Amino acid sequence: MTIFSRIIAGEIPSYKCAEDDRFYAFLDINPVAKAHTLVVPKQEVDYLFDLDDDTLAAMTVFAKRVAKAIQQAFPCRKVGMAVLGLEVNHAHIHLIPLQSEGDMDFRKEKLQLPAEEMQAIADKILENF
Ligand code: AMP
Repeated sequence: MTIFSRIIAGEIPSYKCAEDDRFYAFLDINPVAKAHTLVVPKQEVDYLFDLDDDTLAAMTVFAKRVAKAIQQAFPCRKVGMAVLGLEVNHAHIHLIPLQSEGDMDFRKEKLQLPAEEMQAIADKILENF
């Protein structure tokens, strides 16, 4: 079982931002920007581009809804989308509110936000979903 499957199962806590029957969204625990969110399929597949076409299409539409909720909750120029998957072998999309292109720099020092602030961010996205 991947760490993200354990999060979806509720075995490991997460800051939930959105959910439906096939997908789950939660805050990245080491955010590159405030409200950095991960979108994952409940189906356990390592690589995003190994998902079947229907699941990938549906996941993109789900990510679109999450991105709109992020932008409503935290006004930004746009919400960036990235696929890395070098660390966790469970397909996921990163959604990151952008003010400038530097906000998508995964090499920069990560933000460390208190748990209460992370919870408040997730709640606000969930409210707008
Ligand atoms: P990558 O696989 O390269 O896309 O990176 C995995 C991402 O998942 C990183 O940005 C991590 O900070 C994030 N991550 C890993 N474990 C957790 C967790 N338990 N809760 C939230 N985010 C996580």
